[in-house]
Amino acid sequence: MEIYQRIFEDTPDALLVIDQTEHIVLANIQAEILFGHDRRQLIGQPVDMLIPDRFIRHAGDRARHIAEAHSPSMGETTERFALRKDGSTFPVDIMLSPLVLPNEHLVLCVVRDITERKAAQDALAQQTTELLRLHAELELLANHDGLTGLYNWRAFYEYAGQMLKTAHRRQENVTLLMLDLDHFKLVNDRFGHPEGDRVLQAVAATLKAAARENDIVARHGGEEFVVAALGLNEAESHVAAERLRAAVANIENLKSRITTSVGIATLAPQAQKHETTRALAELLDQADQALYAAKRNGRNQVCHFNRVADMASPAA
Ligand code: GH3
Ligand code: MG
Ligand code: MG
Repeated sequence: MEIYQRIFEDTPDALLVIDQTEHIVLANIQAEILFGHDRRQLIGQPVDMLIPDRFIRHAGDRARHIAEAHSPSMGETTERFALRKDGSTFPVDIMLSPLVLPNEHLVLCVVRDITERKAAQDALAQQTTELLRLHAELELLANHDGLTGLYNWRAFYEYAGQMLKTAHRRQENVTLLMLDLDHFKLVNDRFGHPEGDRVLQAVAATLKAAARENDIVARHGGEEFVVAALGLNEAESHVAAERLRAAVANIENLKSRITTSVGIATLAPQAQKHETTRALAELLDQADQALYAAKRNGRNQVCHFNRVADMASPAA
């Protein structure tokens, strides 16, 4: 019998044996050290004395807990808080194990102080939260233009590339609209660079609001913007481009009216013979040529790449 007593006493965890009424029947040395109570102060006392007030469970809950200690699934550890004699609380792992004796049903409680483990876990959780926040911030900075909040050129390339793949899979068109503000240099010259910045922000917000939700709207750089859209035919792309052009022309509260020229290019699924990056570069080049034609033709208008040859005539 002595060996069992030695095991009970020398185990590195605090051990308590409690009865059906949750009174302490036995406590080992580690329990004395952990809770700061002399063993004589523990034995015969309700186990509630070792639990902070805010964690003391209702009677019904407690009964269920004790009943669970007798169920075969019991034995796993649960994380709780415990109360020392000096009133301080600390996190503990508690493992309950049924001790079914001929005349009584007792419960063995193994209590382990997990202050350090918990502090390490909390620190790790905090670091992880901070890392996730920084990651989100970096991603935002990497993908967005600082002045307008639109996607930047890098993000545009990535998302438009994905759009081209989706279009190919669904056998749909991809439309690219390239916009360049007309005589924007004059805005800076007349009203100063800050006003120019304000105009760029207003145009960005207008384009974002006028575009469809799934369109990709990006700042190409300087006073150029680009919009990629799925599933429009040439006529529909004209309507979309015209809507954006009109929206920019109708921006209010600016020091002078601002207009934009728009170049359109369409990639039909059957024409997508190159790999994505090259197809996108080709599409951008076509939209750029169309934009240039729109500029040449008098600005504040849209031009589709398929019409560039017509507009290049001397009459234009
Ligand atoms: P066009 O109709 O031919 O496009 O004429 P434009 O004056 O718009 O074209 P140009 O390329 O000559 O001038 C573009 C101007 O855009 C010049 C540049 O200072 C201005 N710009 C580019 N980026 C910014 C910016 O971030 N803020 C401001 N305020 N101006 C910018
Ligand atoms: Mg330009
Ligand atoms: Mg311009």
